[in-house]
Amino acid sequence: MPLIAIVSASLLTFAMLRTIGPNAAIGYSFLFAIMAAAWWGGYGPGLLACALSFFVVPYGLVPKFNPAKTDLNRLALTALVSLLISRVAATRRRAEETLRAANAELEGRVRERTLELERANTALAEKAAQLERSNASLEQYAYAASHDLQEPLRMVNVYAQLLARRYEGHLDAAGHEYINFITTGSRRMQNLVADLLSYSRVVADSEQFSTEVASHEIVADAVSNCRAGLEGTGATVTYGSLPRVCGNREQILEVFQNMISNALKYGKPGEPVRIQVEAAESGSFWEFSVRDNGIGIDMQYADYIFRLFKRLHGGELPGTGIGLALCKRVVEQHGGRIWVESSPGQGSTFKFTLPISGSKDFKAARHGAGLL
Ligand code: ADP
Repeated sequence: MPLIAIVSASLLTFAMLRTIGPNAAIGYSFLFAIMAAAWWGGYGPGLLACALSFFVVPYGLVPKFNPAKTDLNRLALTALVSLLISRVAATRRRAEETLRAANAELEGRVRERTLELERANTALAEKAAQLERSNASLEQYAYAASHDLQEPLRMVNVYAQLLARRYEGHLDAAGHEYINFITTGSRRMQNLVADLLSYSRVVADSEQFSTEVASHEIVADAVSNCRAGLEGTGATVTYGSLPRVCGNREQILEVFQNMISNALKYGKPGEPVRIQVEAAESGSFWEFSVRDNGIGIDMQYADYIFRLFKRLHGGELPGTGIGLALCKRVVEQHGGRIWVESSPGQGSTFKFTLPISGSKDFKAARHGAGLL
């Protein structure tokens, strides 16, 4: 390093000798040579360049050079400058090395984390696929079981009725009572199986995210389907204008129908049932509400009633405990949420949300259902 610097400085000095005079040319050129040696070579090369430029090189460049007449002050000053530059350069180099090492370590860690994340993602995707497969087979199982159970149940029912008709005069009261137990039991079982079948049929499909349905018409159909429970009871259902939503018409109809028939079933004795259906925009969702003036629910059961087969009024009123679980399943398959606000004796308001078509929550729901 000092040799390259000194050789370059000597060549430069030769070039400048005629223009700025021997001393100045030597002074400037070699000062740069010493600085370069100290900057790139460090302490040793810097000091060596100092010594060479003060004692060796002038032999060739300055006629009658006498080393004894060297200006010691300049030599000391130049050596000091060389030391300082070496120090600054060494500190900079150390800082650069530390930075490089830190960068390398950071890159290593990032690589490691990325690998870990990739591994976790693969494991998660495998688990999700496994879960999807087991869910699909469970759904198929529930569907097949409830579908296949319907036929033998129908047979039990039909033959119990035949038995009652055919042996009407031959059976005593107990015989009739037993047949009655068989028919009511099998009817309850039929309802249960039919409800389970509907429940297992609630699966997200690609069409539900591209089909617009008018919730106003759906509510009208739900009311019409509940006619039997409404007529002659003084019960009323009111609803204003309701929005168009994207979804499975049949499934949303089941939600409204369940809520309206529950409101009719769990009304206060002796008081006409009033049901009010409304919808309001809430962020990127439509929030629907079905309010009644019925017996109400203690809020400690607010989550419980949405679980499969869970009932609060099991003994006194007919039902399977599947209706609200089905509503929850439908709403969640559509990317929404369902809940109840109520207190005993004060009526209940069942609420659920459906993402507004095209909103980010709608896209997330479609993505969540694996339908991109
Ligand atoms: P089911 O009506 O067949 O029992 P659901 O799943 O529809 O089953 O309802 C679960 C339980 O929630 C009901 O048994 C009842 O105790 C309670 N419930 C549902 N709707 C209402 C309502 N509108 N008012 C009071 N209680 C209700």
